Amino acid sequence: MGYQLQEPIPCAGSYDVIVAGGGPAGCAAAAAAARSGAKTLLVESAGALGGMGTSGLVPAWCPFSDQETILYRGIAQEVFEACKKGMPHVKPDALDWVPIDPERLKTVYDDLVAGSGAEILFNTFIGRAEAKGGTVEALVAANKAGLSAYTAKVYVDCTGDADLAAWAGAQFHKGDGKTGEVQMSTHCFILSNVDDYAYWTGPSLHTSNPGSPIYKILASGKYPEIIDAHMCNNTIGPGTVGFNAGHLVDVDGTDPKSTSEALMKGRKIARAMRDGLAEFDPAAFGNAFLVETGALMGIRESRRIVGDYTLTEDDYLAKAVFPDEVCRCSYYIDIHRSPKDKKEGKTDDTLKKYPPYGKGESFGVPYRCLTPKSLKNVLVAGRSISCTRALQGSTRVMPVCLAVGQAAGTAAAMAAGSGTVDVHRLDTKLLREKLRKAGAYFR
Ligand SMILES: Cc1cc2nc3c(=O)[nH]c(=O)nc-3n(C[C@H](O)[C@H](O)[C@H](O)COP(=O)(O)OP(=O)(O)OC[C@H]3O[C@@H](n4cnc5c(N)ncnc54)[C@H](O)[C@@H]3O)c2cc1C
Repeated sequence: MGYQLQEPIPCAGSYDVIVAGGGPAGCAAAAAAARSGAKTLLVESAGALGGMGTSGLVPAWCPFSDQETILYRGIAQEVFEACKKGMPHVKPDALDWVPIDPERLKTVYDDLVAGSGAEILFNTFIGRAEAKGGTVEALVAANKAGLSAYTAKVYVDCTGDADLAAWAGAQFHKGDGKTGEVQMSTHCFILSNVDDYAYWTGPSLHTSNPGSPIYKILASGKYPEIIDAHMCNNTIGPGTVGFNAGHLVDVDGTDPKSTSEALMKGRKIARAMRDGLAEFDPAAFGNAFLVETGALMGIRESRRIVGDYTLTEDDYLAKAVFPDEVCRCSYYIDIHRSPKDKKEGKTDDTLKKYPPYGKGESFGVPYRCLTPKSLKNVLVAGRSISCTRALQGSTRVMPVCLAVGQAAGTAAAMAAGSGTVDVHRLDTKLLREKLRKAGAYFR
């Protein structure tokens, strides 16, 4: 049974553009909207900006280049270069798989968004979108002031889970669309007091190295929390290694019970990883210290909106070019399949069917993937844009989310400034001109 609130919720502010969620997509969207002159609010449920790249402790940027040139420019490049600058062990011209110092990245995003003139509200969770006839009228947020409503002309959903769009009634797919099965999750963590020399000169820990200590950890049977050999790791500071390692199955990012259980399980996996590495790679990790696990669970996949266009694997194969594209994407189709998936024969032929791109190859992301079909004044950016399940394995990574976020924020400011606020009727030629002027790259 429902519960009827006894009093109306006070309105705490009115804006041209409200961005929900301050991950890479949300930060770029808020900065772009504010730089375009829109009165902008960014609402973030955590206590820091950056989403998975900071609070989630993802330790590296997926490649910024198409193996020839930098592909993600504009705000994406600004963020990337500023983050790199504070990391003396990273070559200034490095473009691919560059490590992330999450504390540095938090302040890079603070400076980007606050510097653009957008307001930021931390520790504020958006729990409802009030919509009438496809137009969102207000968001309801919860924080230390209790429940408050915020209104805007245009809303940009960058929650990663398309929360706002789903609550406003947008059509969406979740995972495989039938069982809700999603890619496996990972709870990232950081180890310090690692012996740098032994780490760099010893065996690579990565899954692709058959001599990696992870295989000894698994073979020992002593660490049952670790279910497979997933192991990515990067030096993020002196004696400090960030890990995107270990898998959890069937975590539903839109179900608080599921993510709560996963966080506890993830912390156990991180401890087991530390202990296993100390046992089987003692030279590098014998004295390692588990500093931190992510404040956010590492969700790779949840909802994807149904937009005016749905990007598909055919677009990947065709290296598609669109008249309304707002960025290019060169990342491969990277799917973390569950052991159950593999058992049922859904083995990973993705890489065979859709091989990683060669030099200079990429596909375009059209603006129409950001516009949920049934909503008038909502744009979606980040990992829940309109695409097939497989293609989301490519567009979900941070450089793409930054580039798409900049497009969404610029479009939101344009729509807010137009009489209609209808994101489906936007002049995409003008949008692309504005994006080009602001440094973005596309064909
Ligand atoms: C384990 C893992 C490893 C990865 N590895 C890499 C990698 O090596 N390199 C790479 O480039 N990419 C990697 N990715 C992909 C990438 O990190 C994410 O897909 C990307 O960060 C998505 O960006 P986003 O802005 O859409 O969402 P997120 O980064 O998830 O940010 C969403 C933000 O919204 C906030 N939020 C959510 N709901 C609400 C709400 N209702 N109200 C208010 N705030 C809300 C969250 O707190 C969060 O800060 C990885 C992802 C995972 C999960």
